[in-house]
Amino acid sequence: MTPYSLYLHIPFCKHRCAYCDFNTYAGQEDSIPAYVDALVREIEYVGSRLPSPSGRGDGGEGEAHTVFFGGGTPSLLSGPQFASIMDALRSAFAFSADAEVSIEANPGTISPDKLAAIRAAGINRISFGVQSANTEELRMLERIHDFFTVIEAVSTARQAGFDNLNLDLIYGLPEQTLQTWQNTVQRVVDLQPEHISAYALTLEHGTPFGRWAAKGLLPLPDPDLAAEMYEWADDFFEANGYVQYEISNWARSVERSFACRHNLQYWRGLPYLAFGAGAHGYANGYRYSNVLRIKTYIERLLQPSTFDLQPFPLTPATVNHHRQTESDDMGEFMMTGLRLTREGVTNADFRSRFGRGLFDVYEKEAGDLIRKGLLEWTGERLRLTRRGRLLGNQVFMQFIDG
Ligand code: SF4
Repeated sequence: MTPYSLYLHIPFCKHRCAYCDFNTYAGQEDSIPAYVDALVREIEYVGSRLPSPSGRGDGGEGEAHTVFFGGGTPSLLSGPQFASIMDALRSAFAFSADAEVSIEANPGTISPDKLAAIRAAGINRISFGVQSANTEELRMLERIHDFFTVIEAVSTARQAGFDNLNLDLIYGLPEQTLQTWQNTVQRVVDLQPEHISAYALTLEHGTPFGRWAAKGLLPLPDPDLAAEMYEWADDFFEANGYVQYEISNWARSVERSFACRHNLQYWRGLPYLAFGAGAHGYANGYRYSNVLRIKTYIERLLQPSTFDLQPFPLTPATVNHHRQTESDDMGEFMMTGLRLTREGVTNADFRSRFGRGLFDVYEKEAGDLIRKGLLEWTGERLRLTRRGRLLGNQVFMQFIDG
């Protein structure tokens, strides 16, 4: 049986950035100790309801091979708080020997002592939200760090023993030029991370950026320039030893691949369990999500009166769940699998998962997209063409609507 991936959401930030629509809150750090207690409670709850009789992986059901602390700003938690969460996870799940345990960190919220404590707690991969090397762009994004803080953070992480490090970038920013983007990419590659992510800025409803853009107050690069930024970065990363494996992700792959195994679990349509306010999970035929607000999340887990028993993998914090149909699973399998630029979706994987051939189900959709030059069929796997990578959403919609 496939081991689980575990996602833990830490919804605290020092400041709310103008473009961000994640479930995160500024100024609620006083709630962190109670939130950690609630997380531990939720982990114990899920661990006690795993489908295996012992819950200890004798049939493989209780095994975990990746953990991801996302946010928000997980690096606002202390070393001892991470240690208590990791202890709870190890009690609830049998970890594989080479488990990947990641944390997202804001370069402005770390110190040598904290990173050493996080590393000692068993976290072995760190992802810094860099976004840009340009001071003006960082200010406009309302980030609390500058690029010198990033350089320091990378050096501190190396000294703390992190040998698997990701740097996150955003392109297509207001007033960004090809030149400022190229400078960001070069400076990030100079830091020699094992992994780089580069996402296009998206304007989300309800964020200050979304409102300013609606009023015409945000001078965004046109889509052609954003596409040029993406293609230039892809070429530069590849020329510097990074292999693209997903639309927005590149990894070094010398002695071992540094592709993010946790995110591969999502893209391959495999199960992951969710913990924390606003976290989303997928397991045992359900997609589900937890209550958004920190206070309510804590109340639901720490007050026994609200502690209703839920079927696995739902918890007292779950507010939405949906039983997946086969058609849901097939569409999502295509949509996330096609994000994997090398791997794509193979007919063999599709058949072993659903008992039917990929073209038996999606002959029309796949055929149309191949004719339009957005997908290619290698005789074994269906995957995006270079042009298809720029128009991914158009491709994915065909499998959800189709
Ligand atoms: S630090 Fe990250 S999670 Fe927090 S508000 Fe900014 S973009 Fe959002």
